[in-house]
Amino acid sequence: MPDPLVTTPTVVDPKTREGEGDHDRFAHYARKSDILKSAVSGKPVVALCGKVWIPSRDPDRYTVCPTCKEIFERKKETENEG
Ligand SMILES: [Zn+2]
Repeated sequence: MPDPLVTTPTVVDPKTREGEGDHDRFAHYARKSDILKSAVSGKPVVALCGKVWIPSRDPDRYTVCPTCKEIFERKKETENEG
């Protein structure tokens, strides 16, 4: 019996391309003051996850970076003093 011919679809999973710019597909959390500064200067900010990134004008179009979200949630618990 011959081997069945199986075609394996080649799927480039963006998640496997770590450090290859996949973070640009996310909306990251950063300090508000940094984001405001970036809006003026056009310079990138350092997000909570460490990603240097230029805040998007419409972050709603992007998924929130899971790493940023996690750090943000943790910060909320420890920084409750407003
Ligand atoms: Zn992030």
